[in-house]
Amino acid sequence: MKSKALNSDRREAREYQTPSSGIFFRARKVLYEKKSAFQSIEIIENDFYGRVLFLDGLVQTTEKDEFFYHEMLVHPALACHSRPEKVMIIGGGDGGALREVLRHPVQKAWLVEIDQEVIRACEKFFPWLEEALSDPRAELAIADGFEFIQRTTEKFDVIIVDSSDPVGPSAILHDRDFYARLKKVLKPDGIIAAQAGSQWLHLEEHLKKASFLGRLFKLARFYFGPVPTYPVGTWCYNFLSDRIDPLAVKKLRIPAGLRYYNEEIHRASFALPAFFYNQKSQKSRKKK
Ligand code: SAM
Repeated sequence: MKSKALNSDRREAREYQTPSSGIFFRARKVLYEKKSAFQSIEIIENDFYGRVLFLDGLVQTTEKDEFFYHEMLVHPALACHSRPEKVMIIGGGDGGALREVLRHPVQKAWLVEIDQEVIRACEKFFPWLEEALSDPRAELAIADGFEFIQRTTEKFDVIIVDSSDPVGPSAILHDRDFYARLKKVLKPDGIIAAQAGSQWLHLEEHLKKASFLGRLFKLARFYFGPVPTYPVGTWCYNFLSDRIDPLAVKKLRIPAGLRYYNEEIHRASFALPAFFYNQKSQKSRKKK
């Protein structure tokens, strides 16, 4: 794996999804390149996907397909909550999750992003970020999400964890300790939704996470959705709550104007593939 996506001739950007396979994008133009205090940031223009953001060589967002990821990360949790007034997003510096949160009648939405440079770059090249941040309900905090939750005095109805993969500054956002502390700032009927990586490439990590999340929350479910430019094209998310079962909610509050998420997708997305169950039961057999 390499930490930059652009090749030396700067005409192509590649993400290695495994050491020997991945995805490539022709770069019509290199729009932005910087090494921040936390990571390498690259934005290119591609003929099919439009603007593409890479952090440490990994695709984070593309103009053309970002809606799959941001709608599935945000709406299942918000649509299940009867009054999502206070919402916090941890990570999410490209602004797509914030834009989706603000479609709901929330009172206040915090965006807690560690890297000011990601915000600067995305404000320039992904106009929805600037628009979302100018909403009077939005508040930006440049801070480490783990530190922020230890000092905040707020309690949240919904928390969205829009972290990068468990490497670099995001590693801490995938641990048991982080989720245990996150639960302390969640209201009793609150919901957490978190991006959880690829169920195919990160199965071992999922199973480890499933076991500690299952002990921390009464309801800890995985759900899935497509993201064409993420590794293997299907992405996985955690839905965590002590009170709200996403499959038992009678009336989903779905905002108008979405392109992927709807009621049928909501129900279908909680179905798990057979290999997930098989691996889980093999693991529990080994433990006995
Ligand atoms: N959807 C993306 C993905 O999985 O590819 C994640 C997108 S979002 C750009 C991830 C953001 O999390 C990055 O901007 C990164 O700077 C931020 N981040 C990483 N570690 C963080 C931390 N400890 N606290 C707050 N933000 C963090």
